[in-house]
Amino acid sequence: MNWSDIIEQIENASGIPFKLVNARALAGGDINTAYCLQGADRSYFIKFNRADKVDMFIAEEAGLSEIASTQTIKVPTPIVHGQTSEHAFLVLEFIEFGNNRKISQTLLGQQLAMLHRQRQPYFGWHRDNTIGSTPQPNSRDVDWLEFLRKNRFQHQLSLAAAKGYRGHLQTMGANLCDRLSGFFSGYVPQPSLLHGDLWGGNAAVDTEGNPVIFDPACYYGDRETDLAMTELFGGFSPEFYSAYRDTFPLDSGYSIRKTLYNLYHILNHLNLFGSGYLSQAENMMSRLLSEVK
Ligand code: ADP
Repeated sequence: MNWSDIIEQIENASGIPFKLVNARALAGGDINTAYCLQGADRSYFIKFNRADKVDMFIAEEAGLSEIASTQTIKVPTPIVHGQTSEHAFLVLEFIEFGNNRKISQTLLGQQLAMLHRQRQPYFGWHRDNTIGSTPQPNSRDVDWLEFLRKNRFQHQLSLAAAKGYRGHLQTMGANLCDRLSGFFSGYVPQPSLLHGDLWGGNAAVDTEGNPVIFDPACYYGDRETDLAMTELFGGFSPEFYSAYRDTFPLDSGYSIRKTLYNLYHILNHLNLFGSGYLSQAENMMSRLLSEVK
């Protein structure tokens, strides 16, 4: 990698001279290639993708800035995005991670709840973004069920159809889309600012014990979707859940809706990673359909 052009862009954006000492590849990302750029007195986090993916990074930067502006929970500060002849890149403040203590999980629960208290009058966001590398439409809607049906389920189902996943998946998916209202009796979701992709790999703790979240797919939607995703792949402790509930109690119907909300991510995994997720998606759908018979 030729770093000099990128370093020049970092220096221009930050206004601070930077002398690269070491570039260390980082593990952990699903989608992009990431490095720690270590300098004498500061470090930067940088991730790369194909040059035509720059918009994905602009959306991520906008999401990080939106979360940061709420002053509820720590996110890495965006420095600059750009393109080289081969790559698109995003540079962020590098955060040294520390041990995940119980108190940090409690803080994470409280701070996520405070993030979710940030509201706007409609569902969606001012721009589309990506979930993993899949396009995620966020067109505004005052009706959550419409938003969920169109921008989340029908969108993923049509991507799946284009990849050849037809038949049972599509029939059950269409059925579910027709019956969404059955999951919402007595519950009126509000448009909360969401992280949007909150699996365990996108949350950590800094060396001072402060929770940090990163790699968001922000929009305003039902806060239960963020909670549901924390349960999908694990990594969040009982202290996190009790602190969240103490700060912002959950509706009793959450336990059923969480499968509905996680279906979106499993459909996305089917589209991103292939047929290993097909039976999981179909099982979730048939369980959900049995709930609204
Ligand atoms: P991807 O977009 O490919 O999923 P991530 O944004 O999740 O990549 O970053 C990959 C890994 O790099 C994360 O799992 C995390 O361990 C680490 N990481 C992410 N952001 C930072 C940061 N600002 N500072 C330090 N490490 C980070």
